[in-house]
Amino acid sequence: MQAMLPKVIDYNKYLLRERLFAGILERDAFTRHKGIFSLVSDVSVEFSFEQNEHGEVALDAYVSAVVSAECQRCLELVEFDISKSSEFFICENVDKNTKSLSLDDGRDIFYANNGKLDVLGLVEDELLLAIPMIPKHEDVSSCGAIDHHPSGEGISEVRRPFAHLRELIDAGDKN
Ligand SMILES: [Zn+2]
Repeated sequence: MQAMLPKVIDYNKYLLRERLFAGILERDAFTRHKGIFSLVSDVSVEFSFEQNEHGEVALDAYVSAVVSAECQRCLELVEFDISKSSEFFICENVDKNTKSLSLDDGRDIFYANNGKLDVLGLVEDELLLAIPMIPKHEDVSSCGAIDHHPSGEGISEVRRPFAHLRELIDAGDKN
């Protein structure tokens, strides 16, 4: 059983202890994804904090969950796993306009307030970014869309330009 995580943490504690922050956030805690997808599972979170030689706080974040969304091909629900790894620098909101970061490794910045890091907000952002733009059944055989085109209907749509020619040839052979 994984630990239930707090929604906000004092990230400096994790920095000093060089501890991994890992566990789960309850799916009911999330709200911003509603109308886009549903959380089938709780959300697994793994954060590891590190302070680099410039004193900057780097965060490696990994989030994963099972979600369901409307397949854009058949409009039925499709369930799938999402997971995302991202790298951030944690900066204090008050330093927003004054502090310059080395920013040499392409990390995004996530802002904290007086040492408090909004874990739920960060994880929610990650989930929203991880969801595919057009969710659909990966496996076409499990996609409901094929049920909407019965095989008989499909065959009638196939154009057979030489069908009539065959009849003409058959008729000719009889002469
Ligand atoms: Zn589908």
